[in-house]
Parts: sequence; structure tokens; C-alpha cells
Amino acid sequence: MKATLAPSSLISLPRHKVSSLRSPSLLLQSQRPSSALMTTTTASRGSVAVTAAATSSVEALREGIAEFYNETSGLWEEIWGDHMHHGFYDPDSSVQLSDSGHREAQIRMIEESLRFAGVTEEEKKIKRVVDVGCGIGGSSRYIASKFGAECIGITLSPVQAKRANDLAAAQSLSHKVSFQVADALEQPFEDGIFDLVWSMESGEHMPDKAKFVKELVRVAAPGGRIIIVTWCHRNLSPGEEALQPWEQNLLDRICKTFYLPAWCSTSDYVDLLQSLSLQDIKCADWSENVAPFWPAVIRTALTWKGLVSLLRSGMKSIKGALTMPLMIEGYKKGVIKFGIITCQKPL
Ligand code: SAH
Repeated sequence: MKATLAPSSLISLPRHKVSSLRSPSLLLQSQRPSSALMTTTTASRGSVAVTAAATSSVEALREGIAEFYNETSGLWEEIWGDHMHHGFYDPDSSVQLSDSGHREAQIRMIEESLRFAGVTEEEKKIKRVVDVGCGIGGSSRYIASKFGAECIGITLSPVQAKRANDLAAAQSLSHKVSFQVADALEQPFEDGIFDLVWSMESGEHMPDKAKFVKELVRVAAPGGRIIIVTWCHRNLSPGEEALQPWEQNLLDRICKTFYLPAWCSTSDYVDLLQSLSLQDIKCADWSENVAPFWPAVIRTALTWKGLVSLLRSGMKSIKGALTMPLMIEGYKKGVIKFGIITCQKPL
């Protein structure tokens, strides 16, 4: 199916905004702490000095994320399969899709992302892929099969890494894909080795967006593509310094359950990529295309099977389920945006 992206959903980059870029090191500092897990950074002569308190809060965040996915991934897989991300739907599609329809929408999300980044036309060039924040490896296995590429996935959750490797073995893909526990902010890879750097719904967990983007760029091969699909807050209007208090409050409540640090906007990502002189930077707001997703997840959670699995899974899953309506509210009120940001590393 073809993406129905309205031209207005492509966010263009006014030159005046580019020239008045805030330093990337200030990006997170300028946001109000959104949870106890938020990294506290102080900018000193353009560099980011991380305090001891911030270091331990980053560690707490890392542990929280690992535990969250250790506990919830089995439940998600049982109900939704191996893609732990939004589906991509035609805007205004009012049809009640069957389960398989939602899974198709998740595959479509991968396809639309590759197409948006221009990877589909370059598929022969894609030999090595890194899946940053790989979940149980749904994207890696799909992309490896589609392109015949080698794929390495990293996650903070040992349970996910094991399950991802087991699924790869079961699908006879172990020679192509592998998974390990590693931090996206300190990736265990050499510089410049991946033709495609893929981050599907992991960026929102990263406490230091500048470091995250730098790592993605570092491991990308010259000419390689970077794709970040992530939860963002709305772009701030000119002159606006921060979100409204009620907006921040809404995000804070989501952060606590889903182990997220401060959010940023798609414009912030674009600014970061521009500051690193990347090419062919594009972004889009796909919020309308994902609108049916959370209502569908809530519907499945409210089935008998969903409720039983939820209770068996544990408190983190239950709290996660109770937070889902806030995601819907955030999208409806325009605070939360589902963004894709892509670019190419210069040759
Ligand atoms: N991309 C996957 C999973 C998305 S869930 C999919 O679409 O199916 C978010 C993932 O990000 C989890 O696997 C989590 O472990 C990972 N993650 C979050 N912070 C991370 C970090 N700092 N380093 C590595 N992985 C991280």
C-alpha cells in the first residue's frame, strides 16, 4: 500500500531556524525534568558535563528499561507478535481491523520507513544493518530477509536478546541476524560499518539525545542511511521556550510507567543532525497514521485473554496498560507526535 503523506506532514527546515540553532548540548538542559529518571546535564563551554546524580539516574533508567522489557515482552509477543511498535494506517481508516490487520500495519510501518528514507531503491547496497533498541528482533529478521543483509540487534533487556536469538534460530536466520545486550549510547561496534542504522521506537528511551544521535552517526558507514522512528513532543512555536505545564504534566505521567527520560521534538532531532553535517535530512509527522494503534492495543488488553495475560505478567505490565489512555490523549491534544527522522552520512 502506498503511504498517503500529505505534503504538509513533511516538516521543512526554515533557514532562520537553522541559523539560530541551540547548541545540541543544551537540548536536554532546556527541557524541564520530566521524571525522576531524567538526566541532569550542565553545559560547560559547549560540552555536556554530567553530574554524579545524573550518572546514577541514567543507570537507574537503564535498569528500569531492562526490567520493564524483561517483564512485558512475553505478554506483548503473545498478544501482538514480534513487532513492538506502532502500526502504520491510512489516516481516517475507521475499519475495525482484525488482529492480522494490525500486524500488517506494523510491517507496513517498517516498509513505509524504509521507503521514506529512500532505502527501498538502494536495497542492494544494504549489506550490514544495526537495529538499535531491537526488542525481540522483529525488524532485524524482517530486514535481513528482505535485503539478504546481516543484522545485529542491541537491547538493554537480556530476556529480549535471548528471545530474539531463539526466534532467529527457529526461523533459520541465525547466520544472518544476532542479538546482544548493549547500550545504544555506547555501542560495541567499530566506526563506520553499517549501511543502515535502524532505530524503531527506541529513541524515546534515550536520556541523552545528542549522544544517541552521535553514536548512530559514528557506526554508520559513509553513505549509510540512518532511520529514527520515535515518540516526540510537538515542535515548539517560535519564541516558545517550553511546553505548557499541563502538557509537561501529561508526558511526565507517561514517562514514569514507560521508563522514558525527557522528550524532545522532531525539530530537535533535525537540529542535531544538521549540527553533525549529515545529508538528505528529512522528517515527517506520522501521528495521524498511527492513531488507530493504541485504541486497538487497549481493546486487546480488555479481552478475557488479554486481562488474564496482563494479570499474570505483573505490575509493570498492568501499569503500562493503565497508561495507554494517556498516549491517546497526548496524540489527540497534539502534544505527542509520532516522528520519523532520516538522513545519510556523507561519503
Ligand atoms: N525496535 C523494537 C523494540 C521497540 S521497544 C521493535 O520495534 O520491535 C524499545 C526497545 O529499545 C527495547 O528493546 C529496549 O531494550 C531498547 N532500548 C531502550 N533504551 C536502550 C538503550 N539505551 N540501549 C539499547 N537499547 C535500548
